[in-house]
Amino acid sequence: MAKRDYYEVLGVGRDASAEEIKKAYRKMAIKYHPDKNPDDATAEDKFKEAAEAYEVLQDPQKRQRYDRFGHQGVNGGAGGGAGGMNMDDIFSQFGDIFGGGGSPFESFFGGDGGRGGQRRRKGSNLRIKLKLTLDEIANGVEKNIKVKRYASCDTCGGNGAKNGTALTTCGTCGGSGQVKKVVNTMLGQMVSASTCPTCNGEGKIISDKCEACYGEGRVQKEEVIKIKIPAGVAEGMQLSMSGKGNVPPRGGVPGDLLIVVEEKEDEFLKRDGNNVVYDLYISFVDAALGTSVEVPTIGGKVKIKIPEGTQSGKILRLRNKGIKDINGYTTGDQLIHVNIWTPKQLSKEEKATLEQLRDSANFKPNPGKNEKSIFDKMKEFF
Ligand SMILES: [Zn+2]
Ligand SMILES: [Zn+2]
Repeated sequence: MAKRDYYEVLGVGRDASAEEIKKAYRKMAIKYHPDKNPDDATAEDKFKEAAEAYEVLQDPQKRQRYDRFGHQGVNGGAGGGAGGMNMDDIFSQFGDIFGGGGSPFESFFGGDGGRGGQRRRKGSNLRIKLKLTLDEIANGVEKNIKVKRYASCDTCGGNGAKNGTALTTCGTCGGSGQVKKVVNTMLGQMVSASTCPTCNGEGKIISDKCEACYGEGRVQKEEVIKIKIPAGVAEGMQLSMSGKGNVPPRGGVPGDLLIVVEEKEDEFLKRDGNNVVYDLYISFVDAALGTSVEVPTIGGKVKIKIPEGTQSGKILRLRNKGIKDINGYTTGDQLIHVNIWTPKQLSKEEKATLEQLRDSANFKPNPGKNEKSIFDKMKEFF
């Protein structure tokens, strides 16, 4: 389906000020908020559409691009655009649009990022480090990782009460978990809600605690989780698997599993962006006469030709033998840095042979104008 014009979506003119855009979006966000329109797919689409439009129009640079090039200017391409915002992104936008914590909108929207009248708590995130070889980084890999995470208690079914018996409704808040209060704001009267002090917002009280989890409703379990690592990740990158983190006490949405990538050092190959670099050492005899040698690459050994008269410092390139870009558009190369190995010790006979060559005109260094300096070589390759 073709995208609607962003200005049309928010119902503002093309010359609308930043303040007008913000106001218009605020109105749409309230009108189509999923809490107000449960199970209404049309409202959800409108909600997302408005968020996307706002995401672009509130950013002066993106807005300028959009004005000049339309949707093409802000969607697609590296770095993405507003395309495919998920609900988490949209809700995190609200800090800005509704002025952050403590605003009446927070409670209007259920507080704590919760959705709907009843609070849905989210468990904490789990963070693990994952060491990957160059090979795994280059090709992507699927790993089964053992993690210790809080999961729902089987004995009580996760509610924390003995044998999973029903919980008692909290008398203070009548089960809503919130104590309500009417406040006057510049937008009119609004109901402000705060967490019920008796049940800590849970709405229910446990009279007899489950013995397996001590009323927590969750226990630590060791679990094997399958993790798919895409090709092209790099040291320090963080991948997240939603819902694979800890379950909060007594039910709710589990947090996320965050996987931090670490690179295992390779014995032969060094990574430089998406290129890999290999230091090759050859004898000056091989450099002078030419030869063929085997070099390690990500996919295994490869035979390469060293041409006659190769100079020290020459960089040979194996195209597409590097690492695939994480966005999948390009693949790096392997760069082979040729070093001429000078013998550190020689036998009498070897010395005698070399002495005969010492004064030969061909053995005198003669770097002409065509000889590139290491500086130029670097510029060419990096
Ligand atoms: Zn339990
Ligand atoms: Zn209560």
